[in-house]
Amino acid sequence: MLDDRPPPRISWPRDVDTVITELRTLAAVGELDLPLPGSGDTAGRWAALARLGRRDLALARLAEGHTDAVAILAEAGRKPAPEALYGVWAARSGGTGAVLDNGVLSGTVRFCSGAHRLDRALVASLDDGRSVLVEVDLADAGITAVPGTWLPLGMDASDSPDVTIDDVAVTDDMIVGDPGFYLDRPGFWQGGMGVAAVWLGGAQGVLDEVLAGLSTPDDHQLAHIGALHTAIRATEALLAQAASTVDADPLGDHHLLAWTCRAAAERAAWEVLDRVPRVTGPTPMCRDPRFAQRLADLQVYVRQHHAEKDLAAIGKAVLA
Ligand SMILES: Cc1cc2nc3c(=O)[nH]c(=O)nc-3n(C[C@H](O)[C@H](O)[C@H](O)COP(=O)(O)OP(=O)(O)OC[C@H]3O[C@@H](n4cnc5c(N)ncnc54)[C@H](O)[C@@H]3O)c2cc1C
Repeated sequence: MLDDRPPPRISWPRDVDTVITELRTLAAVGELDLPLPGSGDTAGRWAALARLGRRDLALARLAEGHTDAVAILAEAGRKPAPEALYGVWAARSGGTGAVLDNGVLSGTVRFCSGAHRLDRALVASLDDGRSVLVEVDLADAGITAVPGTWLPLGMDASDSPDVTIDDVAVTDDMIVGDPGFYLDRPGFWQGGMGVAAVWLGGAQGVLDEVLAGLSTPDDHQLAHIGALHTAIRATEALLAQAASTVDADPLGDHHLLAWTCRAAAERAAWEVLDRVPRVTGPTPMCRDPRFAQRLADLQVYVRQHHAEKDLAAIGKAVLA
């Protein structure tokens, strides 16, 4: 799943514009046309996502969202709009989120990656307590990013602010799948494992930076490198096995497997965040903005994992 060599580095300095330009280039040359999850080459899909994460996590965040949207649309028997870049905006952080009421979509959605630059989004809304997925055109005047709501150091270039949706009329053709489709479909958990592949790539990307800069390592540094290699390769093996399981039973319920892959990738990322600064000391964190950015990106992005909440869910499932 992880190549022997790192992918080419993203152009630097990196900002939202460079990331979007690169994303559109990748889309134009077909590099975002990934095998669908469960279609027989899930490992190929996740390897591509890991490669993107290894290259740059902000780029991978947007690429993963787009490819997830394409997979969701396929699962609903639909096609994406030609040449459009998509996001999937489903967060209900802090009690926010979109609401669908009598065919009108409204509300504030947090963490809308690509808010200023993408073309379309799949928005998970609640209609009378039921989840309904709505495809929106981001050129709609009723959909606006809220200034001042995306101020991070890590993942800054993922452009993930709050978005307000102000009374957008929803026609039948904008509704994707039946009510409950977004959360109930098998692809929900397959998509969650794709995110784990991105985290894994991000972890390897930081390790790549360390390996490129280490000239005469001492024994302690070597031990850290060995531990990180082991953590990353163990997660890679788990994901490869999970890909086979998904391909063998694409309509199966793989939620425990997804939780397990995500927890393993989160732990590998934290091994990197814990050990890498002990290998390098503060110098690259203070003098190499690319190195510092990659650490900060990984620290922020891997917090999509809900930590002990998700581990407790695994524990409960294992006991059951
Ligand atoms: C870089 C990035 C990009 C993302 N992009 C997308 C996207 O495009 N689409 C999408 O659907 N989702 C996206 N997400 C969101 C993600 O999927 C989750 O929905 C989100 O991380 C959950 O946020 P939460 O605040 O609800 O955290 P949770 O992990 O659900 O909960 C956090 C807990 O911390 C507590 N808390 C919050 N603030 C404080 C504080 N100041 N002090 C003490 N406790 C506090 C809260 O009360 C809560 O109990 C993105 C996330 C990140 C990090």
